[in-house]
Amino acid sequence: MKFKTIIEPFRIKTVEPIRRTTRKERELALREAGYNLFLLKAEDVLIDLLTDSGTGAMSSAQWAGMMQGDESYAGAKSFYRFETAVREITHLKHIIPTHQGRAAERILFGSLLKPGDIVPNNTHFDTTRANVEYRGATALDIPIPEARQPQLRHPFKGNMDLNALEHVLKENPGRVPIVMLTVTNNSGGGQPVSMANIRAVSEICHKYGVLFFLDACRFAENAWFIKTREEGYADKSPREIAQEMFSYVDGCTMSAKKDGMANIGGFLALNDDELAQKCKNMLILTEGFPTYGGLAGYDLEAIAVGLHEVLDEDYLRYRVRSVEYLGEKLVAAGVPIVEPVGGHAVYIDALTMLPHIPQNEYPAWALSCVLYLEGGVRSVEIGSVMFGRQPDGSEKPAPMELVRLAFPRRVYTQSHVDYLCEVITYVHGLRERVRGVRMVESPPVLRHFTARFEPAHGSLIVA
Ligand SMILES: *Cc1c(COP(=O)(O)O)cnc(C)c1O
Repeated sequence: MKFKTIIEPFRIKTVEPIRRTTRKERELALREAGYNLFLLKAEDVLIDLLTDSGTGAMSSAQWAGMMQGDESYAGAKSFYRFETAVREITHLKHIIPTHQGRAAERILFGSLLKPGDIVPNNTHFDTTRANVEYRGATALDIPIPEARQPQLRHPFKGNMDLNALEHVLKENPGRVPIVMLTVTNNSGGGQPVSMANIRAVSEICHKYGVLFFLDACRFAENAWFIKTREEGYADKSPREIAQEMFSYVDGCTMSAKKDGMANIGGFLALNDDELAQKCKNMLILTEGFPTYGGLAGYDLEAIAVGLHEVLDEDYLRYRVRSVEYLGEKLVAAGVPIVEPVGGHAVYIDALTMLPHIPQNEYPAWALSCVLYLEGGVRSVEIGSVMFGRQPDGSEKPAPMELVRLAFPRRVYTQSHVDYLCEVITYVHGLRERVRGVRMVESPPVLRHFTARFEPAHGSLIVA
């Protein structure tokens, strides 16, 4: 290619204004929200990087597809278009639509797990962990050791530790019904998993007669990393790479709010007939009939088109590059982040940035509040608030304290990213004055969504 600038591979057809607020207004909003960014009103946020889940912009082709939604209760045309789109990528036998990823998790684990079971994963996502633990089973994270050193660069830092996996399977016969592998590894920094690792995990699982599923939410971004980083894949298309990834598994769970490029939706796909029948029965109980699974016909259409668009090379190149662009600027400014930069998000390493805040005062949580206070930016903590509480009710500090800046797909432009970089660099300059928070109210499960906090030392930033 003659020109090096990677442009947004789309033009903007519809715009949505975003609203500036004053620092005073944000201070008040933060206090009213109990210092929990999940409890803010979205209109009080300038740049919203809380999540890349369901927050993307749909294409004109997706909107056009939605007009063709077939809302028949059973056997709708939209279901068959959706099923074909999923099958062409995964080649899995049973495709079960759900309203989002966690419903697929609940149905799968509800059909498969019993108390005392163990589910290994490179790193469980929060809802995945919660759904495993809800069944009385143990969610075991076994990423490669490199994954826990934020600044250590490794091309496939999302890989699973194969020795650890083999050990768990050998030591716990009959207690591990399924192994999950999250691509890309969201809670571990959005890091990719190599094809070699997927293949090896598959071989080990099948040697022990254990099911192997992908948590496939960002399968397309993972395919792009394989194409650009793993030997032998440079000339393959993202679709071919994705097909190979799925060829090693017995099934997958998927949130279509990520690489489905839709605002809602998900699915469970698997080969085993008996397990699929059990899952479909559970689906009918809480989600709906198996040809819509909690979705409208038009949602199924949006996902069918989205699954096609997400594998476009221009899109993936822009997607991964635009996130990396922010990462490079932050590294240049001396801000500690997880390196290399992952597919959908930049993760600030709050333990390194704020060494004076003890983990029981939640440094990453405090930092995310300060980013909002100073710049109107909403991020999310992935640290001891999200993962610190153990199933027995005790507290254990999370291995890392991260602030995740997740990018909605096709939503923000380069100037938004430049603004962000300015805000983060400014806050980095204030870091010695930033103080921690204290949790004053906390619900029993997934506490980060609704817990309330107070500054532990009178204020988030001291003089
Ligand atoms: C988002 C996500 C889920 C859950 O999907 P929802 O659609 O939010 O229910 C599961 N695993 C991973 C890795 C995710 O990123």
